[in-house]
Amino acid sequence: MSEYDTVSAEVEHEEEIPEDHPRYEDLLTRHRIERGVEKGITHLQGMHAEGRGSAFDYLLGEETIPSAVEAERAAAAHLLLADHPVLSINGNVAALVPAEMVELADVVDADLEVNLFNRTPERLEAIADHLREHGAEDVKGLEADARIPRLDHQRAKVDADGIYDADVVVVPLEDGDRAEALAEMGKTEIVIDLNPLSRSPQVAEVPIVDNIIRAVPNITEHARDLADASGEELEAIVKEFDRKRALEAAEERIRSGL
Ligand code: ATP
Repeated sequence: MSEYDTVSAEVEHEEEIPEDHPRYEDLLTRHRIERGVEKGITHLQGMHAEGRGSAFDYLLGEETIPSAVEAERAAAAHLLLADHPVLSINGNVAALVPAEMVELADVVDADLEVNLFNRTPERLEAIADHLREHGAEDVKGLEADARIPRLDHQRAKVDADGIYDADVVVVPLEDGDRAEALAEMGKTEIVIDLNPLSRSPQVAEVPIVDNIIRAVPNITEHARDLADASGEELEAIVKEFDRKRALEAAEERIRSGL
């Protein structure tokens, strides 16, 4: 038995997870989701989503594959070109990357909007508070004064001056119905999802098949790198990105390991 075998069960604070553990990122992810559930941020179903994601990440080799690097750069270009970019936050996203989403919003001048599948006033407030604790100044999603067409009442709720008005939306770990409905509204969707066969990445203009823990800091880094790029340069990056090839490359990696 290795010295690491009992790490996940014993950890109280994430600093206790040894960074040189071979499954460090996976343990960190699990720990953050468990804390999210305890804090009332993440729904229990979020644990199932996390389990599915973890399996795909394992098959991807738990690293950002080259096609995801391209997708993350294209995402940064889209966000910099956007008139009104919005980053959508659900319970898993808030638990896993709160500070990273706040930082990305800051760098590309985007709004943050809480958008929940299992929507309760308590969870909305808990997530908004959690984001504020991580530096967010303005958190949207609490007004819910507009509706996404063709979705049932609860899942359709968005802010009129947030996602409803956005031209580019980042929707990580999103359920397929809502991703389809947002795409039908004509929005440019950037989806982060470890399963390339899931409906959400399938309908996204930019599907990023990568763990959100790696993807969000990567997009931010690309956005910083492209901060002085001209509109034409950004348009060229957007145009060059091939969504179909990115999805195929991710599926190929998962199926063959190559
Ligand atoms: P569909 O999009 O067809 O509704 P689903 O029901 O599997 O698919 P959900 O449970 O709504 O999807 O969302 C969870 C998705 O998020 C899964 O596809 C899972 O692979 C992905 N996921 C979970 N954890 C992460 C993570 N840390 N980073 C990126 N993606 C993740």
